[in-house]
Amino acid sequence: MRGRNVLAWSFGFLAISYSAAFTLVSRVDPDASWSRFDALSGGEHFSRAVAFGDRSLAAWDEQQKESAPDDLNARRLAVADAHYTSDNAASAAFHYAAVLTDAASSELTDQRRVEINRRIAELDLSLGRADRAAVIAAGFLERAGDATAGGHDDEDHLAEHEKADDSFAELVDSFRPAFVDVLPADGSGPKVLGGRLELLRAAEAMTKVGGYYALASDGAYAAAGLLAAAHDLRETQLGPDHEDTVQTALLLAPIYERIDRLSDAEHLYEQVFQAQERAKGSNNPELSLYIRLLAGVYEKQGRLTEAEALNRHMRQIFRDAFGARRYAANRSRDRSFEINRPVSGQFRLDGKYVPKDLVPAVDFGIPLSKSPRVEEMRIRRAAFDGTSLPEQLSLLIKACNLEGERLSLRSGYRSHATQSTLHDLNNGKGTVAHPGTSEHQLGLAVDIDVNRRFMRATDRSYSCFETKAWQFGFILSFPPGNTYLDAEDPYEPWHWRYVGKRTALLYREIGPWGQPQEFLAALPCYEERALSGLFLDRERGDICIEQLQAQLEQGGRDT
Ligand SMILES: [Zn+2]
Repeated sequence: MRGRNVLAWSFGFLAISYSAAFTLVSRVDPDASWSRFDALSGGEHFSRAVAFGDRSLAAWDEQQKESAPDDLNARRLAVADAHYTSDNAASAAFHYAAVLTDAASSELTDQRRVEINRRIAELDLSLGRADRAAVIAAGFLERAGDATAGGHDDEDHLAEHEKADDSFAELVDSFRPAFVDVLPADGSGPKVLGGRLELLRAAEAMTKVGGYYALASDGAYAAAGLLAAAHDLRETQLGPDHEDTVQTALLLAPIYERIDRLSDAEHLYEQVFQAQERAKGSNNPELSLYIRLLAGVYEKQGRLTEAEALNRHMRQIFRDAFGARRYAANRSRDRSFEINRPVSGQFRLDGKYVPKDLVPAVDFGIPLSKSPRVEEMRIRRAAFDGTSLPEQLSLLIKACNLEGERLSLRSGYRSHATQSTLHDLNNGKGTVAHPGTSEHQLGLAVDIDVNRRFMRATDRSYSCFETKAWQFGFILSFPPGNTYLDAEDPYEPWHWRYVGKRTALLYREIGPWGQPQEFLAALPCYEERALSGLFLDRERGDICIEQLQAQLEQGGRDT
């Protein structure tokens, strides 16, 4: 009998304390409540303990921390943990967030801070707040990028290169099932609320995390949900024509194709195509990528007449853009500047090769990472087509110099001797290009720094380069999965090669993705195909690459 009375009493007390906690705080003795919390949580009675914890915290907050203990934030963390263990998602998330914003949070270990963030993301997801969880997950992805961002062909990266830490990527992977639950692939997830800046920040994070999930073979559904939500936010906040909206659409549409939502993919491609047509005019060769994507979905849907009409339109655009006379006028000059020369292990440069038109990058207002006197701070002028490499690099850097991400030139020209020294210094590690196989000796490659360290795939300015570099005549030499570098991860997001605008456009439109050197080696073939429209015949594969390989096997070197 007595036991039952005590039980009833404590339930009653709990009920009263819940309702009284926020109205009568000034009358509460926080120290006494804390002792209760301590005793109960010490006995692992967490669900009973939390009310006392809440009361003491609220009382200390009410008293403006006059009598607050020195370890208030540690106590807040203990209360948050107790809520977390008791499955009180909202209260746990609330207290964890307060722990991280408290001035004393600097005392937390990095490991603890990561775990708190992981829990907040988990709790947000259980509360349906995928937007907030995505912001945390995007932060983890940045950390994963920090840990793995190394270099392959520079001397100074060797010191910076940390051991790759996959744990942050694994954390993000662990959220995937919950994202699928909260954000279904059809975009019917809960509406995200908040101010404009908050919504745009959420859209950026969702795009980043969605793009990451899209890379996994079984990540399509999680990617679709996140990207659909991000696209919706960007479309509402920025309009359908904004480049960020287009960026998300171009990530989302191929995912829709992968999961057989063809009419959704078609809708997005149409939207992007129309936006680009409005912005660039209907005869701009830059449209051909979007035409090709849209025609591809029509073909998958069996709408061959519509696909053929689009392809005809594209052939005409190409004939106008790469027309024979225009091409002939540029061809010899392109070659004389070796602007299109491939350089890799397969296409070697002579040890004595020195470009004749090296200029100091500083003369063109290009921000530098090193002293202007250093050899690497020079690049080729490579003037043709009414412009030059330094002019275009300067414009590209200006176009992608985003707030908080300062871009600078880390490495341009490198002589054969410098490359040899670097290679010898790094002997046995196999991550520095052999002398004679580096585009830096050609003087047409640039390594770009963001805030004085190598540009990373997770940088916003990298996304900008990915979208815009070709418009300034640059292509990415070492895309993910390339076979040029003898390294575990040959992807070099910081290394960009100048080939001129026309060739960069052609590579983007019909080039063999991931094989820029083969593309350059077979350039005349691709130019012919652009004029004839032959590349539209998917069944026949990439004839230019096949011809090149046959040539190489016969021992004929193109360079
Ligand atoms: Zn490089």
